[in-house]
Amino acid sequence: MRRIFFYPKDGIGSISQLMSEEIKTNQGKIFTCARAVSINTNKGYADSVDYINQQGEKVNLKCDYIISTIPITSLVRIMQPSFDSNIHHIADQLKFRASLFAYFMINKKCVSDNTWIYFSEKKYIFRRIYEQRNYSQYTVSPGKTALCLEISCNENDNVWCRQDDKLFKDILDDLTGLNLLKENELYDFKIMRIKDTYPVYSLYYKEKLNSLLSHISKIENLISNGRQGLFNYNNMDHSIHMGFLAGQYVASCKESQDGWQNIIKTFDAYKLID
Ligand SMILES: Cc1cc2nc3c(=O)[nH]c(=O)nc-3n(C[C@H](O)[C@H](O)[C@H](O)COP(=O)(O)OP(=O)(O)OC[C@H]3O[C@@H](n4cnc5c(N)ncnc54)[C@H](O)[C@@H]3O)c2cc1C
Repeated sequence: MRRIFFYPKDGIGSISQLMSEEIKTNQGKIFTCARAVSINTNKGYADSVDYINQQGEKVNLKCDYIISTIPITSLVRIMQPSFDSNIHHIADQLKFRASLFAYFMINKKCVSDNTWIYFSEKKYIFRRIYEQRNYSQYTVSPGKTALCLEISCNENDNVWCRQDDKLFKDILDDLTGLNLLKENELYDFKIMRIKDTYPVYSLYYKEKLNSLLSHISKIENLISNGRQGLFNYNNMDHSIHMGFLAGQYVASCKESQDGWQNIIKTFDAYKLID
């Protein structure tokens, strides 16, 4: 079966690029490379956020409303005054898988005509390969291609901590063994580590998640949203939909959080496509 999907000509970043232009046109401000380290509350109301900027300085930003999409397990840990230690303990039990992404830059037109290839066999270090050219040829240089190899792991396990050169060698061995690549076709590589990529649905995760959400809902002007923010294993279109609903909810100036708790329940109906 062959399925067709639509993809932005210049890559998926075009969507956030357009959104950011719209925000700036409407006098909004965007701070990137800003790591939120504290949400400061007073009598059940969030007054401000402290973040660390690109220069490593701590900046305080006053706020009327916060829609947080950082992992819910991080959110409950940065609340000030600090949430009860029992809440931190529950957050410790909700786990995310981490991912390593290895990008291989290749001196040939294409490796295959697939967008994704999945590998379930444990003998391969990667679980999935993407070939960017097959989403849009305009995202790679003419005559060249690139592969992204996705490796699943846990933060700080032996795969996560493996040195880049060793990882490169393990991946290359698998790719050459599969006859997908010859070493002399490769001209560069880069490895990235991202924690908190996949929520792990272990037994009773829902009860634990609901405890965290119930605690967050006591802060009148704070909601947690998005894939990591709601521990919801979803796709991009779902997250955009969540964003629209959160925007409408805040714009309608709901005083009680009950409405948001009901909206969250509808997110369980999302159907994942990969
Ligand atoms: C490997 C992988 C492949 C995927 N492929 C697809 C696909 O092909 N198609 C599809 O539709 N969906 C795909 N998805 C899902 C898609 O990426 C998500 O649904 C979507 O990005 C979630 O959007 P979000 O805004 O909720 O969260 P995110 O996009 O994860 O954004 C959350 C942001 O919060 C930031 N953050 C974390 N902590 C802090 C902090 N303390 N301070 C400030 N910022 C912080 C993170 O760096 C991140 O940028 C994929 C997901 C993964 C992990």
